[in-house]
Amino acid sequence: MSPDEWLAPYDLALANAPSDYRDAWGRWVTARLAFKTGGLQDQSILVLAPAAYSNAIIAPLRAAGAAVQDPLSGLRQGEQGAWLTTEVQRRRIATPPAAPEHPTDTPLIANRTDRQGVADALLEYRKGNEKLHRSRLGFAHTAEADALLQADPFAFLIGVILDEGIQAERAWQGPLELKNRRGHLDPWRLRSQLGAVRGAIAAPPALHRFIEVMASAVVMAAERVCTVYAGDAGRLWAPGSTAAQVDARFREFHKVGPKKAAMAVELLVSHFGIELEELSGSNVAYDVHVRRVFLRSGLVDRDDIGLVTAVARQLNPERPVLLDQPTWLIGRRWCHATAPDCPGCPLRDVCPQLTHRNV
Ligand code: SF4
Repeated sequence: MSPDEWLAPYDLALANAPSDYRDAWGRWVTARLAFKTGGLQDQSILVLAPAAYSNAIIAPLRAAGAAVQDPLSGLRQGEQGAWLTTEVQRRRIATPPAAPEHPTDTPLIANRTDRQGVADALLEYRKGNEKLHRSRLGFAHTAEADALLQADPFAFLIGVILDEGIQAERAWQGPLELKNRRGHLDPWRLRSQLGAVRGAIAAPPALHRFIEVMASAVVMAAERVCTVYAGDAGRLWAPGSTAAQVDARFREFHKVGPKKAAMAVELLVSHFGIELEELSGSNVAYDVHVRRVFLRSGLVDRDDIGLVTAVARQLNPERPVLLDQPTWLIGRRWCHATAPDCPGCPLRDVCPQLTHRNV
């Protein structure tokens, strides 16, 4: 890929691959580089990658005659992130250009400064509303449901799983309703109760529109929590975990993809005050409200998960996750799919109001 291409999130890590696979990967990347550039002899190559990648590629690059620099070598993960952040700021690397989807968009949001203004306004809104809107939670129908989400990590995990295809209020109310209908939320018992869980979700009023899928996902989650986390879902965010690790752990659960994993990390940080390491590795959740606000405010010019993630990381590199909550709230409250309320929106002074864009 070329330097101005954006890499979409991926869930394979070279560090987890066997050594012969890593070696083959290094030789393959070197061969592709040589092919694309016409040869690597005496070429100067800067490697910016974790050890698993740099170890695999540096030897074949040197064997091909390239002069290799590896400035991240020997740095720990957090130090690597700090080095990159400092270096990016120092060099003021420009945002990758992207083709405008609409001719009138270009002059409205033309540079990083404009986007930074939107990001700053989002963070301001977040600060000013922490008490009113602590997070996406607090939207369940009852205080009892919210209390359960806070008290029981497995209930929280179920809420994350259910938060799809139905209103957030209903999804976050789900764990309490399921507990009431089953009489417990014990993963050791639920893991073998698929039929009962299905029946509890399906009983009128149904807890979810995707009864079969969600029943399976809940039971599979119970199984995984028992076998991997000794029955304690709170171990997903055990002390010392990085944001990226927690995100990856959530994604191991059925029906939890990048969007919900990012949302879960955001909730843990913002709502529960969980201290995660290296929040630079956190993401905004690619959900419909976030996507719409990112598009209409000019933060991105196309609906692309890789771009949304990358721009959030660029605009708030230390804690990209903090952009998630205000964006979601604004999308939900003002930036409706139809009839957006721009005059009332906290972004009205900085947003180019590209309301023809929609998702
Ligand atoms: S409601 Fe209007 S001002 Fe607010 S984010 Fe949407 S387009 Fe921008």
